[in-house]
Amino acid sequence: MYGPAAKPADYESFPYLRRGVDFPAVELSDPSSRRSRFAAASDDDRQARIDRLLAENVLISFHDHPQLLPADLADTPAFLRSKHEFTAFAELRRSGLTAVFDNWFGVIGSTRRAGWKWDDLITTLGLRLADLAHQDGVVAARTVQDILDAQRAGDVAFVMGTESAGMIENDLDRIDVLYGLGIRQMGLVYSDANTLGSGQKEHHDGGLTVFGRRAVERMNALGILVDVSHASDRTSLDAIEASAKPIAITHAGARAVWPIPRMKPDEVLKACAERGGVLGIEAAPHTTVSYDHRSQSIDSVMDHFTYAVELMGIEHVAFGPDTLYGDHAAFQKAISDVIGSSTVFDAGDLEWERISHVDGLENPSENFRNITGWLVEHGYSDSEITAVLGGNILRLLNEVWR
Ligand SMILES: [Zn+2]
Repeated sequence: MYGPAAKPADYESFPYLRRGVDFPAVELSDPSSRRSRFAAASDDDRQARIDRLLAENVLISFHDHPQLLPADLADTPAFLRSKHEFTAFAELRRSGLTAVFDNWFGVIGSTRRAGWKWDDLITTLGLRLADLAHQDGVVAARTVQDILDAQRAGDVAFVMGTESAGMIENDLDRIDVLYGLGIRQMGLVYSDANTLGSGQKEHHDGGLTVFGRRAVERMNALGILVDVSHASDRTSLDAIEASAKPIAITHAGARAVWPIPRMKPDEVLKACAERGGVLGIEAAPHTTVSYDHRSQSIDSVMDHFTYAVELMGIEHVAFGPDTLYGDHAAFQKAISDVIGSSTVFDAGDLEWERISHVDGLENPSENFRNITGWLVEHGYSDSEITAVLGGNILRLLNEVWR
C-alpha cells in the first residue's frame, strides 16, 4: 500500500441497496485473483525509487473501466442491463491512482440491445454518481483542483467520460446537459458512424460532419475534452483541426507499431501533438500488439509508448490502459459484434497470438505500478516519469476545462 493517506478499503458499491432485491444478485469477479505478474525492481534502490514516484506523483489513468465484471460471463448481459455497475473501490484505493477517466460499459444498452442510448447514459451516470456519493475516499472530479485535492487527501478522483457522443443524436443542447451532470470527456464516435462522423470500422471514411464540427465547438465552449480514440482517421484529423482547444486520444496506439484500424497512423498522432494534445497508450487485449511482440504484454504495449514518445515528444504521451476487473478477453468476445472486433483487430495476413490476459497490465490496480517499474528499469528520469504518469494530462486539462 502506498499513497499519502490510508482510508478504509472494504467498501463496496450500492451499500444502500439490497442485493438480490433491488438489483440482480450476481457473483462478481474477485479482483485480487490475478494471472498477471507484478514486476519487481532489479534492486532495492530501484524499488525505493518506484515506491517514491508512485507516492509523490499525480497518477492519472486516461481511460479505464474500473468496474467488476460478473464471475460468470454468462451473467454479464443481465447484470449490465440493470445498470448497477459495481466499482472496485477497495482495489482502486490500493492502486495508488489519483484519478481515473471512468468510461463505463456504454457499449451495452439496457433499454435497447445496442449501446450509446440517451436514457442508458443518463441512468448509468446517475446511478454511478449516487454510488460515489455514498462512498468514502472517492470523489467525482469536475475541475483540475478536484484532482489535486484528491491527491492531497489520498482520495481517488473519478472523471466522468463517455466513449461515444452518439446518444446526443442531432441535439447540441444534450452536450450542455451532460456537462451539467459532470461529463468532462467525450469520444466523438465509436466504431459505427454516427451524426458526428465516421468510426474506425467504416470502409468509407466521411470525416467529421457539419453537425460534428458544431458539437466540437460546443464541447470547446463548455470545457469538455474531445476524444477521438475510436474515430476514423479522417474524423480524427478533422476534429484536431476543427477544435479550438487541444484534443485527446485517450486510449490507442501507433499503427506503425501494429497495423490494425484500432491504432492511429503517424499523421493523426503528429497532428494531435502539434496542437498540444495527448495520447494515452492503450493496453486492452488484442490491441497494442507489436511486430516485435506478437503476444500482447506490457512489452508490446511499451513498444507503442516508445514509438509515440519518439514521434510526438514525451510531453504528449500518457497512459489510458482501458482495463477492468475480470476476464477482459472473454468480455471482448461476448460483445464482439458491438465493438466490431473482427474488423478493428484485423492485422491481415500477419500472425499474432490471442491471449487470455495482458501480462503486466491486467487491471487498474497493477497498471501504474508496473508501468513505473518499466520506466525506471529503462532509464527514464523522474521528470519524464512525472509527465507521463499524469503531468501531461493535467497540463491538457488546465487548457481545456476552463
Ligand atoms: Zn474504448
